[in-house]
Amino acid sequence: MESFAQLLAVSTKIHGHLCAGQVIGVRMSMAALEHIGILDPKGVDRKKLYVLVEIDRCATDAIQSVTGCSLGKRSLRWLDYGIMAATFVNLASGQAVRVVAREEARALSADYCPEIVDKYQRQLEAYKVMPLAELFTFQEVRVPLQDCDLPGRPIRRVQCQRCGDWVQDCREVEQAGRILCRPCAGERYYQVVAEADRVGRG
Ligand SMILES: [Zn+2]
Ligand SMILES: [Zn+2]
Repeated sequence: MESFAQLLAVSTKIHGHLCAGQVIGVRMSMAALEHIGILDPKGVDRKKLYVLVEIDRCATDAIQSVTGCSLGKRSLRWLDYGIMAATFVNLASGQAVRVVAREEARALSADYCPEIVDKYQRQLEAYKVMPLAELFTFQEVRVPLQDCDLPGRPIRRVQCQRCGDWVQDCREVEQAGRILCRPCAGERYYQVVAEADRVGRG
């Protein structure tokens, strides 16, 4: 695998700026991959790796950059927990590690770069050199994954019996004997303001 400096440079470019989250995400990913025996995440090991990330913040971009996993490839899953943590799964061996960024690291950063006055700059520099055990906690975990959550062709496509939208990947819901999409089953996040013609007559 590439060096920390190389990986940080790439993730900073993809993310758009250098920030503490990039440092956290790169170090978290490198440590986790080593832990589960993934040496070449973007090469020979790319089909063995699956990542579940528990927050959508800066570090998430770094995790994506280092691991090569992405939402579009279905090798990255986002769980909206608001926790700076991610679980890295070796699909071949079943080994998995959940890594949580420790809140204590913020205060500990003062021990490493006391000369830096700006708090955020100090954290960024300290996180580059702090021992992993001060930055993260590691849990060995088991992650039961369903076939319909994994990369590969969709297992099935069904049509919602209320709105007509097509649902892939077993995300349909059965309600009172009808097959519905999740929005129609009560999880709709939008309100339709105007119905444009689906056939596209303008
Ligand atoms: Zn950032
Ligand atoms: Zn529907």
